[in-house]
Amino acid sequence: MDERVKKELSAIVEGCIQFDCPMDKHTTLQVGGKAEALCLVKGLPELRELLWYLRAERIPAMVIGNGSNLLVRDDGFRGVIIHLGGDLAVMDRNNQDKTMLFAGGGVPLVHLLHFCQQEGIGGLEFLAGIPGTVGGAIVMNAGAWGREMASVVEEIELVSMEGNLIHKDRSGLDFSYRRLSIPPGSVIVRAGLRVREEKPLKVSSMVAAFLKEKKATQPVEYPSAGSVFKNPPNDYAGRLIESAGLKGTRVGGAMISEKHANFIVNAGGAKATDILTLMALARERVREKTGIDLELEIIVVGT
Ligand SMILES: Cc1cc2nc3c(=O)[nH]c(=O)nc-3n(C[C@H](O)[C@H](O)[C@H](O)COP(=O)(O)OP(=O)(O)OC[C@H]3O[C@@H](n4cnc5c(N)ncnc54)[C@H](O)[C@@H]3O)c2cc1C
Repeated sequence: MDERVKKELSAIVEGCIQFDCPMDKHTTLQVGGKAEALCLVKGLPELRELLWYLRAERIPAMVIGNGSNLLVRDDGFRGVIIHLGGDLAVMDRNNQDKTMLFAGGGVPLVHLLHFCQQEGIGGLEFLAGIPGTVGGAIVMNAGAWGREMASVVEEIELVSMEGNLIHKDRSGLDFSYRRLSIPPGSVIVRAGLRVREEKPLKVSSMVAAFLKEKKATQPVEYPSAGSVFKNPPNDYAGRLIESAGLKGTRVGGAMISEKHANFIVNAGGAKATDILTLMALARERVREKTGIDLELEIIVVGT
């Protein structure tokens, strides 16, 4: 990235930019090389200008939330990583319709749930322990305990890679298992979520129960990116990897979790290549044993 582009990017995001940004600091797996730049974008006009500029300059870009479903390769990302904050990470409740909650794409789910517990808002408790943001959870159609984002999202606003603001309501959203199809390069900036009034204590106790269950069944004590593979129809990726005898297998600093075989954890000093090697091994062994081709749930970033 040349000095002119660096200067122009800095001006657009008012200095909220880090060049040669190590992505292990921005992903829950805590691995990965550097991105050429990471921009913190705090408002809609800024985001639209940034996307327009990146497109005009033909600079690759990617928005991230909390990096909780990402594996960035050791060579990093050639381009600009966009992270939403400021006005794009606030929540507001609709006073006319108490069953709607609006949240910016950059709102961390943990803040969303905290707000729900304080305000007595039910319906989103299933998100407890999912360490993402609203935008990331919608794109990944995150879910647990039989519920998923598709069941609560009423509308979204996104900014296209040309910088246009687009509104989509529920009927125009194409959700599938762990995916929402949106135009490539677009950024979810706001969502309307269907909720219900609930006693704060009930919300808190449901959240606590889900967190307890996650702690008991998932290796939350290690850095990870959650489930590595999608569950194939009528089966579980974790069960298949476990029956292939791979629990506890290590490559470098990465390990297939002893607690939940669909989690690959960073057991200390892992490189992205260690994790990619374990992913390839799990796929190969499961394919050999069952003929099932496991599909990745996590997003691999970089070339
Ligand atoms: C310990 C642990 C437990 C987990 N448990 C679960 C679980 O129970 N269920 C589950 O579904 N997942 C789970 N996950 C995975 C992960 O937390 C979810 O997929 C989460 O929704 C990802 O959100 P994020 O903001 O971190 O997105 P990121 O990982 O940062 O990004 C994921 C994808 O979303 C895109 N994206 C992010 N923000 C936006 C935006 N504003 N607009 C457009 N695109 C965007 C990115 O470009 C990328 O393609 C878990 C992960 C961990 C580490």
